[in-house]
Amino acid sequence: MRALNVSVICFSFLLLFQACEKPKITAQSKNESMKDTIVMQDESNPAKRTDAEWKKILPEESYYVTRQKGTEKAFTGKFWNSHEDGKYYCICCGAELFTSEEKFDSECGWPSYTEPSVPANIKENLDFSFGMVRTEVICSKCGAHLGHVFKDGPKPNGLRYCINSAALNFKKKDKK
Ligand SMILES: [Zn+2]
Repeated sequence: MRALNVSVICFSFLLLFQACEKPKITAQSKNESMKDTIVMQDESNPAKRTDAEWKKILPEESYYVTRQKGTEKAFTGKFWNSHEDGKYYCICCGAELFTSEEKFDSECGWPSYTEPSVPANIKENLDFSFGMVRTEVICSKCGAHLGHVFKDGPKPNGLRYCINSAALNFKKKDKK
């Protein structure tokens, strides 16, 4: 009699469990939902490169500056004293950042600009490293660290974008 009661209870639980179980996804609908989640990956998109890939393709100094937020030594980079006409691009992804028209002699040892030529390609973050509060400048396209912006620049906007040469590529303006 007791054994019978136990079987009835077990059977009731089984029914209850089955009733509460969520409907199973059929093989077909599962495949379809998976298809929706596959994102077309553009391997040429630099924003998706891994740290190991950056390390492989960038010169050592550029990797240290752009991917590890390093700073090149003052007066050692190739653009701090450059006066050629042209445009400066992100060394990692090629986004246009500055032109020689915004460049000025700041005597600080790093190429300095009053403003970006394409503001949308620049992002600014507060940087609390080394016990200072500074505004870090990064490439909005690939996240490369470029340098910092300070409020001691020339008029009218009073800004100095202090950028590492190692974060930049330069293309000379064609003479016509
Ligand atoms: Zn970039």
